[in-house]
Amino acid sequence: MPEPEPSLDRRLADAIERLGNGLRSLSQHSARTQGLSPLQQQAVLSLARQPAARREVNALAAAFDVTTPTMSDAVSALERKELLTRSPGSDGRRRLLTLTDRGHEVAAELADWDEQLVRSLAARPEADRATTLHTLLRVIADLQATGAISVARVCTTCRFFGPDTHPDPRAPHHCHLLRQPLALTDLRTDCPEHEQATA
Ligand code: SF4
Repeated sequence: MPEPEPSLDRRLADAIERLGNGLRSLSQHSARTQGLSPLQQQAVLSLARQPAARREVNALAAAFDVTTPTMSDAVSALERKELLTRSPGSDGRRRLLTLTDRGHEVAAELADWDEQLVRSLAARPEADRATTLHTLLRVIADLQATGAISVARVCTTCRFFGPDTHPDPRAPHHCHLLRQPLALTDLRTDCPEHEQATA
């Protein structure tokens, strides 16, 4: 007898894992072009767009779910490559990370590392993309609640997020900070106003 088909949930989890493997491969290839490791690439790209308050080793470690010593090693390597500098933070300790001019150039060269994925997604109908974003953000919130993901500045983990507030299926949620409905297509993945919801 043929094996029964794995459940839909199992196949979805397998597909996400496969996607993760493919992205890891793309990331390794891209990072290698600049003589970096994938984690160093993530740090450079993050430092290029984050406000000063989040340009610290601890914040980077949490954002990429690695230990502080692991991220500290990556940052030290980037410092040796003259892609970033450390300067005193608000408490006077030497910890604010800032990209050098060369670091910004490298970040610009690496910015499109996942372009193949973005292009593929862009070819899908908008309604499919909106539903996929919504589903993934809810899964991320669940994983954060169990501790599998440490930091996620997304709508579904935000204290201003009002789930299932409106009858419109295209914009069912509400942002209590912006005081407006949130269209599924507008759900944020790295919101500057995000504040973590309490459990
Ligand atoms: S503040 Fe930002 S992250 Fe929070 S619900 Fe509003 S748009 Fe989403």
